[in-house]
Amino acid sequence: MDKHAGAVSELVDQLGRLPGVGRKSAERLAFHLLRVPEAEAIALADAIRRIRSDIRYCQACFNLCEQELCAICRSDGRDTTRLCVVEQPRDLMSLEQSQAFNGLYHVLLGRIAPLDGIGPDQLTIDALVDRVRDGNFTEIIMATNPNVEGDGTSLYISNVLAEFPVQITRLARGITAGSVLEYANREMIADALVGRQKL
Ligand SMILES: [Zn+2]
Repeated sequence: MDKHAGAVSELVDQLGRLPGVGRKSAERLAFHLLRVPEAEAIALADAIRRIRSDIRYCQACFNLCEQELCAICRSDGRDTTRLCVVEQPRDLMSLEQSQAFNGLYHVLLGRIAPLDGIGPDQLTIDALVDRVRDGNFTEIIMATNPNVEGDGTSLYISNVLAEFPVQITRLARGITAGSVLEYANREMIADALVGRQKL
């Protein structure tokens, strides 16, 4: 039998489905939300609603944004000759926080993972090829995660882009092999960007 009242029990269930949140943490969060000022709890609910209704992918780079183009693509202060290719919007965020890169990005929205049934067609590679063909990029920096699938994705893309007169580089291994960009600290990412090498 459930020991909580209906609404509390439902919130605990929902919170418990979040990655990394177990039953105990879900209960702690639910009771925390009951204790904080009502406005604070409602602001969280509104923020969740807004990311589902207002957030979409940038039409140029597939970063998350609320308009047709993201703030980076709209900015006129970026170096439009360098394009950094990442797997996910959160990787882009990590690179931005390092403040070591002032070019543009392209988010693949995944990586090639044959074992999970994810092929190149499910990523934004066609759009990337169009951008490289139509843009004035001189360097494409592959910043996929330094693991087997990330490396495979990067290799695939560098082959696809081989017909264009651009230099293709990849991040140096300031980032520990086998880890993911999302968890790398600012210094590791800055290091990896500065020490990037030709692919
Ligand atoms: Zn964008």
